[in-house]
Amino acid sequence: MRNVLVVISGPSGVGKGTIARLLTEREGYALSVSCTTRPPRPGEKNGREYFFLSREEFLQKINTGGLLEYSEHFGNFYGTPRDFVTEKLQKNDVILEIDVNGGLKVKESYPRAVLIMILPPSLEEVKRRLKKRNTEGEAEIELRMQRIGYELSKKDLYDYAVVNADLYKTAEEIERIIEGEKNKDQN
Ligand code: 5GP
Repeated sequence: MRNVLVVISGPSGVGKGTIARLLTEREGYALSVSCTTRPPRPGEKNGREYFFLSREEFLQKINTGGLLEYSEHFGNFYGTPRDFVTEKLQKNDVILEIDVNGGLKVKESYPRAVLIMILPPSLEEVKRRLKKRNTEGEAEIELRMQRIGYELSKKDLYDYAVVNADLYKTAEEIERIIEGEKNKDQN
């Protein structure tokens, strides 16, 4: 069985962070840690949620080819460290929780990457979750809501789309997808 590179994307507030965490806690998948220039939110730790870099450090990573992909949104850079992922992939299935543009770029470098989009049960539900998280102001929430339409428009380019009505069931469904993909290669 091969190790699979799994990309999990979906609109902000859809629960993809929690799902990725559930998967890594329960099944021991390795979670990739991205680099970002956004400041840490309360409770976030360098090297755990993200590697928090200055803009200069991030630009240097771009220039030295250290990122598998990167994109800029909400005025900040986000990118996947290339070595981190390749090393982890030697031993484990690796989960990337990144945006749609990033996911599609990863597929260009790793055509066998499995792209999974998490869909909200409804747009109202996403807004409610974003407000409940209470880490962004109204204007920021509006920006994120606008981005949702764009993310959802790319759904058909993804390999799978899963509606997240229940975090645990969604994590299980994704686990089944990954197992199926691992076994595909045995034939
Ligand atoms: P947040 O600021 O809420 O942690 O993340 C904002 C957005 O950045 C989310 O859509 C998240 O999936 C995306 N993101 C996080 N890491 C990466 C990355 O390494 N590459 C790309 N392209 N997007 C990322």
